Amino acid sequence: MSAVSEKVLTIDALLEEHRVIHPPAAFRAGALVKDDRVYEEADRDLEGFWAREAERLDWFRRWRRVCKWDPPWVKWFLGGRLNAAHNCLDRHVATHPDRVAYFWEGEPGDTRRLTYRELHHEVGRFANALRRLGVRRGDRVAIYLGMVPELPVAMLACARIGAVHSVVFGGFAADALRDRIDDADAEVLITADGSWRRGKVVPLKASADEAVKACPSIRTVVVVRRTGEKVPMTPGRDLWYDDLVKAETSDCPPEEMDAEDPLYILYTSGTTGKPKGILHTTGGYLLGVSTTHRLIFDIHPEQDIYWCAADIGWVTGHSYIVYGPLANGTTSILYEGAPDYPDKDRWWSIAEKYQATILYTAPTAIRAFMKWGPEYPARHDLSSLRLLGTVGEPINPEAWMWYWKAIGGERCPVVDTWWQTETGMILITPLPGVTRLKPGSATRPFPGVQPDILDENGNQVAPNQGGYLVLRRPWPAQFRTIYGSPERYVEQYFSKFGKGIYLTGDGAKRDDHGDFWLLGRIDDVMNVAGHRLSTYEVESALVDHPAVAESAVVSRPDPDAGEAIVAFVTLKAGVNGDETLIAELREHVAKKIGKLARPHAIVLSADLPKTRSGKIMRRLLRDVARGRALGDVTTLANAEVVEEIRALARTRHEE
Ligand code: ATP
Ligand code: MG
Repeated sequence: MSAVSEKVLTIDALLEEHRVIHPPAAFRAGALVKDDRVYEEADRDLEGFWAREAERLDWFRRWRRVCKWDPPWVKWFLGGRLNAAHNCLDRHVATHPDRVAYFWEGEPGDTRRLTYRELHHEVGRFANALRRLGVRRGDRVAIYLGMVPELPVAMLACARIGAVHSVVFGGFAADALRDRIDDADAEVLITADGSWRRGKVVPLKASADEAVKACPSIRTVVVVRRTGEKVPMTPGRDLWYDDLVKAETSDCPPEEMDAEDPLYILYTSGTTGKPKGILHTTGGYLLGVSTTHRLIFDIHPEQDIYWCAADIGWVTGHSYIVYGPLANGTTSILYEGAPDYPDKDRWWSIAEKYQATILYTAPTAIRAFMKWGPEYPARHDLSSLRLLGTVGEPINPEAWMWYWKAIGGERCPVVDTWWQTETGMILITPLPGVTRLKPGSATRPFPGVQPDILDENGNQVAPNQGGYLVLRRPWPAQFRTIYGSPERYVEQYFSKFGKGIYLTGDGAKRDDHGDFWLLGRIDDVMNVAGHRLSTYEVESALVDHPAVAESAVVSRPDPDAGEAIVAFVTLKAGVNGDETLIAELREHVAKKIGKLARPHAIVLSADLPKTRSGKIMRRLLRDVARGRALGDVTTLANAEVVEEIRALARTRHEE
């Protein structure tokens, strides 16, 4: 470990993880990418690479120019014209109309399946209905639904007529919905009478009514029937989805959109603060998500049953449930409800029932399964799975190993994919047929992507040193601006190291082989005895202990060390937490990554505060550890847990 001069401010990297897993031979034999040529090609000629990939999409008019990078502004496929819904549907209807697009499973156990022909039909009818409601190219439409087929239908219907959708996660409350409708100035809101979650009805319509009261821009509210609850309908404003589409034909000519026309606005998860309205455009985005989806998930559309278990309300769902998979003619699973309803094996029963071949989920889910125990997946035959993926947070090596063994049977490569709402597509990731995997590392940049790791002064850090993760070259699916705040776009992402360098906000290190390890958010870095430590490494050292399922680490001011580490720890089911275990955990960290990182205090807690997308909110734990008032909690999913932790933390700090 090296001493760090204050001015340079790199992050000390302490965790050494040496396990290496090569792509299993059986997987490699059938993989789309079997060697490094695709990397060489993209390095040699970035625009040529993407132009060749763009041939796989249907264009109404070909582009004049591939990329115009006028930092910090970028355009892709200038002059090109296409329609995203046409690319996701019509061309598949022409070649394989009866292939299933979505196997949908409702939480109560009801099911639906939509072939490409049926999905095309539904989208056409709803697109015509939206046109009849006066929605035109460029208008904003807010969508607030659970995970029902009408959600992708509504998004594609907007795309078909050139309207800009803004999907708001169905787990948000009225105030979050109101803010997002307001920010985007949406004219139509699409919602439902409710949705199912853990056996209960989530009252979407009630929240929608509450939000719309304060949103004068909304003219019409379209209501999907899902739960059959009686909900009040406001005459002249509210319309049932069924009644609306009944009268429509499915024949709806798609708008010819410019490659740079907006496709959607989506707000970030709000892990670090106020969410930003990220604006994505049509051509580059669709291309970026379809190419990455195909190569990273090794999609063989005739055979694969692909399951991205995220919610469509997050970017993962936009890019890797809707646009990427449909552009590639994939068959996907869509599940409405909770992973532990009616029991903690629900996901595995779905995977078995539909014979899922690919599963893409988040570390938060993997850690929950770890906590519940391996007996739940063991109840089911998961031998259809051939590839696993993860996204959303850095994955602790032990969670990675658990996923690899308990779910993948040591047969399925695990692709740890790093990206953001802003990047639109995965940027750092293995390609499963070629990349040597390391538990906890997102490995290498996707072909043509050029990340770098810088110190405070903008110089590249040495191998195994942590620093600011940045991107030096544009990529097609990158966001074009923050909706309504171009100054904030420049300020937040392109000013620290200059206009041509995108600041991700995350910390990372590169190892001796050039593989990338994400270290969490720069804002979360701790300053202990003159060393800058990442929360991720201390957390991973804790999760490495067999009793621990999950952990979140923060710091608070300390007279001796500058800052002292406070760890919040969730134990696996059946483990008893006592003072002996706490002492053992502190020693475990010291042994694993060094005395410097030994937590000053450990708080055992049944759960950790998370965003509604399941990410640990360290900023709130920092407030708790420092005894401060809590910051913005609108994106917090489990408010009750913060109070419990506060009480627990108080008793520990008083020792
Ligand atoms: P906000 O920007 O509002 O604070 P957010 O950053 O949580 O919210 P998202 O865009 O959903 O919103 O999340 C992107 C972030 O998630 C990344 O910047 C990174 O911190 C984390 N992340 C995503 N995938 C990975 C991964 N594979 N490894 C490590 N971190 C990841
Ligand atoms: Mg972010």
